[in-house]
Amino acid sequence: MEIVESILTNNPCFKAGKKIKVKGLMLHSVGCPQPSAEVFIRQWNSPNAARACVHAFIDGNTGKVYQTLPWEHRAWHGGGSSNDTHIGVEMCEPSCMKYTGGATFVCSDRDAAMAVVKRTYDAAVELFAFLCKQFGLNPLADGVIVSHKEGHDRGIATGHGDPDHLWNGLQSGYTMDGFRKDVNAAMGRTVSAQTAPEASVHVQKAPDTPAAPGGEMFISDKGVDLIAGYEGCRLEAYKCPAGVWTIGYGHTAGVNAGDKLASEAAAKALLKEDLKKYGGYVNNCVKKGLITFPMNQNRFDALTSFCYNCGNGNLQKLVTGRDADTVAEKILQYNKGGGKVLAGLTRRREEERALFLS
Ligand SMILES: [Zn+2]
Repeated sequence: MEIVESILTNNPCFKAGKKIKVKGLMLHSVGCPQPSAEVFIRQWNSPNAARACVHAFIDGNTGKVYQTLPWEHRAWHGGGSSNDTHIGVEMCEPSCMKYTGGATFVCSDRDAAMAVVKRTYDAAVELFAFLCKQFGLNPLADGVIVSHKEGHDRGIATGHGDPDHLWNGLQSGYTMDGFRKDVNAAMGRTVSAQTAPEASVHVQKAPDTPAAPGGEMFISDKGVDLIAGYEGCRLEAYKCPAGVWTIGYGHTAGVNAGDKLASEAAAKALLKEDLKKYGGYVNNCVKKGLITFPMNQNRFDALTSFCYNCGNGNLQKLVTGRDADTVAEKILQYNKGGGKVLAGLTRRREEERALFLS
């Protein structure tokens, strides 16, 4: 899955700046024969845009996801109360259709249309799996993943028929029940978000989520480098002050007298292995719901560095019930040893903070 960040900073909905606690995800399709996400993005990134804004468009030609609002930003997509609870995602529709009124259309090339519909369906499955992981949502639970049509049926959205009308009209065989099952299955597979900086409006580097089974994140090489910069490295085994054979960056498992490492890179590889445990503590904070702000690779790396240095207890204290800005502010307080502010720790916390915010 590819996420292109194209935040609609000129849209009144972005400027309103309201936040929601994400309780579900609503799937839409645009309701007009326009496969290009960028066309919508150009139209909507304006102070004069209609009172409407979604969190993302899925392009019909490429299957790329264009994120148009921060996920926790309140959007105007479903109408009704769903705006306060659900992330809204629009799938673009094939160009070979012609709407004849409301949700009815004719299609001049069903094969071409199905290729587009399949592409957007598959991308939506991956995106919804990614978002369910990010926000701790169960895709099969009642009311969590709904279409705009289902939202209307439940009384939380305006009277639209999307995307059910599209799937049914093309006799595609796709259903919302099938979609929810596919999302659930995708959550067990590898999900990887990469960035492609080519949106026309406003492009930031999208979070670079590493591929990992079960949605677990691992520290990146950039994160390993940050930590290595604050830890001494020795390529020959030595006895640490506590009498334990140690090598590289404080690696102790299976080390014997006389062991040698070929290079600093080899030492970093061992460090990276050792850091899995600390990254695991960060993953646990996400799983247990202690971390409620959206995770990305930089935040994960910064928190793993913090945890490696300060321990799991302090990590939990740092993140629980706090938004990202507060965490970035409070992390600086962990710079004392024996009650005194230490220059090395201050520098490390500042570097972690900068990474966390980048
Ligand atoms: Zn809709």
